[in-house]
Amino acid sequence: MRFPLLLAIALLAGPAYGQTPGRRPATTIQQGEACPTGQTEVRPRSCMAPDIAPPSIVDYRPRSTLVTPVHLVRRAKYPVVDFHGHPEDLLESSEGLARLGAAMDSLNLRIMLAADNLRGDRLRTVLATVRASPTMKDRVRVLAGIDFRNVGPGWAEKAVADLEASIAAGAVGVGEVSKSFGLTIRKADGTRLKLDDPELDPLWDACARLGIPVFIHTADPEQFFEPIDNNNERWLELALFPNRRYPADRFPRFEELMAERDNLFRKHPKTTFVAAHMGWHANDLGRLGKMLDEMPNVYTEVGAVLYDIGRQPRGAHDFFVKYQNRILFGKDSFQPEEYPYYWRVFETRDDYFDYYRNYHAFWKLYGIDLPDSVLRKVYFDNALKITKGLPQSGWPK
Ligand SMILES: [Zn+2]
Repeated sequence: MRFPLLLAIALLAGPAYGQTPGRRPATTIQQGEACPTGQTEVRPRSCMAPDIAPPSIVDYRPRSTLVTPVHLVRRAKYPVVDFHGHPEDLLESSEGLARLGAAMDSLNLRIMLAADNLRGDRLRTVLATVRASPTMKDRVRVLAGIDFRNVGPGWAEKAVADLEASIAAGAVGVGEVSKSFGLTIRKADGTRLKLDDPELDPLWDACARLGIPVFIHTADPEQFFEPIDNNNERWLELALFPNRRYPADRFPRFEELMAERDNLFRKHPKTTFVAAHMGWHANDLGRLGKMLDEMPNVYTEVGAVLYDIGRQPRGAHDFFVKYQNRILFGKDSFQPEEYPYYWRVFETRDDYFDYYRNYHAFWKLYGIDLPDSVLRKVYFDNALKITKGLPQSGWPK
C-alpha cells in the first residue's frame, strides 16, 4: 500500500521547483518578474514556450464548453428612455422614423433621446419631422448642441442665446457634449479649451436657469491614453482604430481631463450634469461612487461600458442598488441587435456570456440581476426626473 501512495503524491506534486513538465527547457524568473516574450508561466516562476506556433489574438476564439442556464431578454422588462441615442438620419424622414419606431417597439424602448448635438436649422427640421409623425411625436426628444469652437470675447453671450433658441424650439437638454471638448477643441487664442474654462461659466449657469440637463462625454477609456503594449486591455481596439490613440505628446492626459471635468461639475452645483459612459469609471466603481457622493448635481449613464458592468456582477449589482437614483440607461451607437445584451446583464443572473464587441473586451459578461424597483429607475424614472421635457405620463408605477 505504501508504494502507490508515494507514487500518487509524486504525481500530484508534479515536477520539482525549477523544472518543467515535459523535456523542453524552462526559464526561471524571480518573484514579480514577467516571463520572456513568447513564454508563459507554467509553474511558479517557471516559464515555457508553446511548441505549436501560437495564433494571433485576432484569430484565437476559444469556444466555451460551459453549460449554464440561458435567459435571452429581447425586450426590456419596463419601457425605457434611451438617454444616449444616436438615431442620426433616421430622424430626417417619416420613413426613417417608422423604421426607428419598429426597432424601438421590438426592444420596449419608449423614448429615444437624440444626443446628436443638433442646433440651428438642422434641429428645427428634425423637430418638425418628429412633430409631423402621429406615431413618433411622443417617442423622440432632442438634445441641443453647443458650438465650442473659438471661445473668446463675445462667445458666451452668443452661445447662451443659441441655446435659449434651441430650447424654445423644443430641445429638452444639452448634448451630447462631445469628447472633443477638452481633448482637441481650441480657443480663439489657439490654446486648448479646458473643460473648466471660466469663459464658459455663463453657459453652464444658463443651463441651471433653464432647468435642463447637460449630457457630457469627457475623454475616453483610460487605456486609450496608455502605451499600446502587451499589458493594455484595449490593445486590439487601439490597433484597429488609430483615432482612439491619445499619445502624451499630442493630447492632454486622462487624469488632467478628469480633474477639469470634476472642477466643472463642482463649480456649477445648480447645473445638472449627466456624465456619459459612467464617466469612464465603470472599471473603478469606488471612484465613481465617491464622485456621486461629493456632487449631488451629477448623474451618470451606462452607454458603451457594458463590458465593465458585466465583468463584476456582484460589485455592479451593489453599485446600482446604492446609486439607483443617479444612473440612467443609454446605449450610444444605434444598433438594435445590441440592446438585448444590456437587458440580459441588468435583468438576469446568467453566467459567462459573450459581449457584442470582442475588441472591447477579452472576457465574458454576467447578469447583475437588478431588482425591479432599480430597473424602473434606471430604465426611465431618473431620466424623467431630470428632464422636464420628456413625456411624463403613462409610465408604470
Ligand atoms: Zn454619444
